Amino acid sequence: MTEKLYYKNSKLYTFTATVLSCEQKGEQFLCILDKTAFFPEGGGQKADNGTLDGANVLDVQEKNGIITHSTNKPLTVGAIVHGVLNEEQRFRRMQNHTGEHVFSGVVHATYGYTNVGFHMADDCMTVDFDGALNAEQLKEIEDECNRLIAKNVAVNCIFPSAKELETLDYRSKLELTEDVRLVEIEGIDLCACCAPHVEMTGEVGILKILDCMPHRGGTRITLLCGLDAFEHLRVHYNCNRKVSALLSARAIETPQGVEKLQEDIVGFKREITTLQTKINRLLADGLEQTDGSAVMFLDDAKADELRSLCNLCLPKCKQMMCVCSGNDENGYAYIIGSANVNLREKSKEINAALNGRGGGQPTMIQGSFKATKEEIIAFFNQQ
Ligand SMILES: [Zn+2]
Repeated sequence: MTEKLYYKNSKLYTFTATVLSCEQKGEQFLCILDKTAFFPEGGGQKADNGTLDGANVLDVQEKNGIITHSTNKPLTVGAIVHGVLNEEQRFRRMQNHTGEHVFSGVVHATYGYTNVGFHMADDCMTVDFDGALNAEQLKEIEDECNRLIAKNVAVNCIFPSAKELETLDYRSKLELTEDVRLVEIEGIDLCACCAPHVEMTGEVGILKILDCMPHRGGTRITLLCGLDAFEHLRVHYNCNRKVSALLSARAIETPQGVEKLQEDIVGFKREITTLQTKINRLLADGLEQTDGSAVMFLDDAKADELRSLCNLCLPKCKQMMCVCSGNDENGYAYIIGSANVNLREKSKEINAALNGRGGGQPTMIQGSFKATKEEIIAFFNQQ
C-alpha cells in the first residue's frame, strides 16, 4: 500500500519519498514510491501533475492501494526523490471539489436529491442529481452555497471505525466498512470521499452555476468555484463591457440593446425591399415598349430581385424579357419571362446560343450564361 500523504495534509505540495520500483512502459516510466502527495485520478477528478526529482509526472493511477506515477524519465530504485506538485492546479481543483461538496450538501439537505454523477473538466465541472431543479431553486441554492462559503466553515476529514460508521448518516455511502474516509463540512455535509479538499470553506471563495439541463430524469448542473470561477466571470464581464461599448448601452442593459438592434435590422430589411421595388418600377417605366425582346442588367442582384424586375418589365415586350446579374468574367445569372413565347421549349435554343444552363416553366425560366454582356444583348436584340 502506498502511504497517501494527501489524506492527512491536502496542502503538502512538496515531499520526499523512496522509490520502490520503476519500470519502462513505451516512452514512459511507471514509478511506485513508499508514499506520495500526488492525488491519483479518481472520483471524476484528474490526477495531479508535477515533478519527481525533475522528471515530469504525466499521470497518477491507483490500483489495489498501490499508486503508480507515470514519468518521462526513469527514477533510481532505492533512491530518495523530491516530489513537487503543480500547486496552482491542485489548489484550484480543491476549491472546485470542496465547492461541489457544499453544493451537493445543500441540494441534499434542501431537496433530498442525491449526487449521482460528478466530472471535473479543465474548464468546468458537472454534477448530476436524481431530481429536477428549476431556475428559481438553483438561484436559492447558489445564494445559500455562497453564504456558507463566506461563513468560513471547517472542512474535516475523519476515519470512523466500522462501529461508528453504522451510526453515521452520510452521502455516497459505500459498501466498505473499513478505511472509509468521510469529509465533513461542519453543519452542512458529511460525505465519503478520497480526494483532497481545502481546510475551510472560505478558501473556496465563490461558487457560480454556469448551466443546468435535464439529464436522465434528473438535472445536470455545470458550475465553477474559486479562482476558476473568478477567471470565468472576468472573461464574461469583459465580453459584456465590449458589447456595451459597441451598443453605447449600459452594461446591465446590453440585452435590451441587442433586442433594439434586431428590431432595427427587421426595419432596415423592410425599407430595402420597399426601395428595391421603387427602383425596379422606375427601371421598368424607363423601358421602351417593343414588339421584340428586351434585356436588362442589374449589379449584384439576387434571384428574387431579378424575378421582381422581370415581372414588372414583362408588359413592355411581346417576346422575351431577360434580366441578368453578373459580369463577363464569371458569367451571368438570368431570369427570362414571357407572356407569348413558350420558354420551356425555347430554353434549349437560348442556352445553346449563350453557353447557358437552366430551365423552368413555360412563362419563366432561370439559369446562368457563360457569355459576355455584348453577346447577351446581341442575342436578345434578334428575338
Ligand atoms: Zn470530495
